[in-house]
Amino acid sequence: MSTINTEHYWLPFTPNRAFKKNPKIYTKAQGMTMTLADGREILDATAGLWCTNAGHSRPEIAEAVHKQLLEMDYANPFGFAHEKAFELATRLSEEIAPAGVNRVFFTNSGSESVDTALKIARAYWRKRGQGGKTRFIARQKAYHGVNMGGVSVAGLTPNRAVFGQGLEVSHLSHTRLEENAFSRGQGEHGADKLAYELEQQIAMYDASNIAAVIIEPMAGAGGVIIPPKGYLEKVRQICNDNDILLIFDEVITAYGRLGDGSAARVTGVTPDIITTAKGLTNGAVPMGAVLVSQDVHDAFMQGPENAPEFFHGYTYSSHPVACAAALATLDIYKNEQLFQRAGEMAKPWEDGIHRLDDSEFTTDVRNWGLVGAIDFKSGPAANGIDGLTRAQSVAAKALEKGITVRAAGDTIMMSPPLIIEQSHIDQIFDALQEAINEVQ
Ligand code: PMP
Repeated sequence: MSTINTEHYWLPFTPNRAFKKNPKIYTKAQGMTMTLADGREILDATAGLWCTNAGHSRPEIAEAVHKQLLEMDYANPFGFAHEKAFELATRLSEEIAPAGVNRVFFTNSGSESVDTALKIARAYWRKRGQGGKTRFIARQKAYHGVNMGGVSVAGLTPNRAVFGQGLEVSHLSHTRLEENAFSRGQGEHGADKLAYELEQQIAMYDASNIAAVIIEPMAGAGGVIIPPKGYLEKVRQICNDNDILLIFDEVITAYGRLGDGSAARVTGVTPDIITTAKGLTNGAVPMGAVLVSQDVHDAFMQGPENAPEFFHGYTYSSHPVACAAALATLDIYKNEQLFQRAGEMAKPWEDGIHRLDDSEFTTDVRNWGLVGAIDFKSGPAANGIDGLTRAQSVAAKALEKGITVRAAGDTIMMSPPLIIEQSHIDQIFDALQEAINEVQ
């Protein structure tokens, strides 16, 4: 550790000054485990940042990347293509997207996928002769990445406040309702009330001004906020009735986390555009993909045949190395039936997390697929760590016990790799129970 020069690296989303006094450094990642510089092995209950769905450092992906780098390291994606891009787009249409969503635009991250989707939505209405449809409706506590479009539609105040105004956006309530606290899976209550808000906003701003509604089918970074039963269906219906596009930001929920390729497939609710990234390459190489309905895509395929239909793209769109990593990742998901496995392990995961329901300072425990969250009463804990909330103290104690979970505000979030086994589930919730007991 003493050889590390901490002067020059500016860490993202990190309190840099505090971090550099006591840097936490990873040196190795294998399967379910991360290794810290002091040699301690940590069970990764967050799949990195919701991305290493097949477990860390998979040799199949490493070999595919190595081979691709030697064969063709790069190919200009403007006006040219390579075979793997077509293959990957086809497989995403068949294995990840719901029926009818079958055109794929490649990006390098979730943030780029979101900004790409917002641009597609606006451009779509122009192509259809309704250029006044430029507004977006999003949701409080939403996280849609960090590019300017994504920050505009985001509903997390710290992420927006210091950057000023962006696009014209109005925000619906998030879907965490007290009456659904301690639900197993999607809650029973509130779909009508929440969907009615959307109708009100459309009445307020008029559908002729609104391009799209963008929501995470399950909000992740904002604190694992699960939609009540029937809510997504109602949002889809209202968008249909008012001729407004529906964008699902599935950067977290795609690639198996809820038990199928996408939340759209799990719920049977088909949006017009789906943004993805993360699990696409198992986190190994940066890549994102925007999955677009045939109808939206076809609106662009008009005008002079020799002009680009969509003036947008990145130097690294459909990067051959990223495509190779993604194809190897999809092979693993398929060969090991990991989406199905996530669906099967969701029940023991649910039983595990709800063992914590009765802790004195726990105000909600919730789960959906292989995702879970625990809310704690606000404020510092009696035996917590100075300057940290209860949730942050519990996460710090859990790390001492060999488990990494994510704490934000008063919430602990978990999203383990889909290769998780019962023994890992026991280990995670035993450690959390102990950590909670110690803190309170
Ligand atoms: N959208 C959602 C729903 C996300 O969870 C994230 C990342 N956590 C993003 C977009 C942004 O992805 P990236 O960090 O790859 O830009």
